[in-house]
Amino acid sequence: HVKRSAVMRVETHSAQDTQALAASLAPVLPAGTWIRLEGDLGAGKTTFTQGLGKALGIARAIKSPTYTIVKEYDLEGQAAPRLIHIDAYRLEEGGADTVDLASYRQQGDLVLVEWAQFIETELPTAYLDLALSYGQEVDDRVLTIQWVGGQEPEWLSQWSKEVSDHA
Ligand code: ADP
Ligand code: MG
Repeated sequence: HVKRSAVMRVETHSAQDTQALAASLAPVLPAGTWIRLEGDLGAGKTTFTQGLGKALGIARAIKSPTYTIVKEYDLEGQAAPRLIHIDAYRLEEGGADTVDLASYRQQGDLVLVEWAQFIETELPTAYLDLALSYGQEVDDRVLTIQWVGGQEPEWLSQWSKEVSDHA
């Protein structure tokens, strides 16, 4: 049985809101963190990644790597050497071994994965799980966030406290 932390729930009302929430994670995320992004097509997984990437100083436009599967962005002056954005959707039929996930783990990259169920066995034992679902209005989203696979790290408890204080 896999240990899961308490769930933090946040509502956003626009893509900008979701990006701002993602941006607020940028200064606290340690190198080597993996984020599993769950949610239907159009839920906002890539939008979240864009907000985080921009806050980490990535100038290039971040687009979903649906065809390339992986995109790597250098992070100048940040804790982690790179942001790795994975869209595993096309690995449904197999091929997880074509992506060198072990090297991302070894180098302490910050890794965000969309459609992680297709590379399930390659995930680290502990990661941040972030699920997005649709809300009532067109631009409403509900984000549920929890730490999976061990004790919730202190930076996450701190961040979730800050987010709920500002809600
Ligand atoms: P996914 O990667 O999950 O398929 P995308 O991030 O590519 O989804 O697309 C999300 C779409 O929904 C974008 O067009 C974005 O502008 C829009 N959107 C509207 N409201 C929100 C919101 N609250 N959070 C995130 N995206 C939103
Ligand atoms: Mg996407």
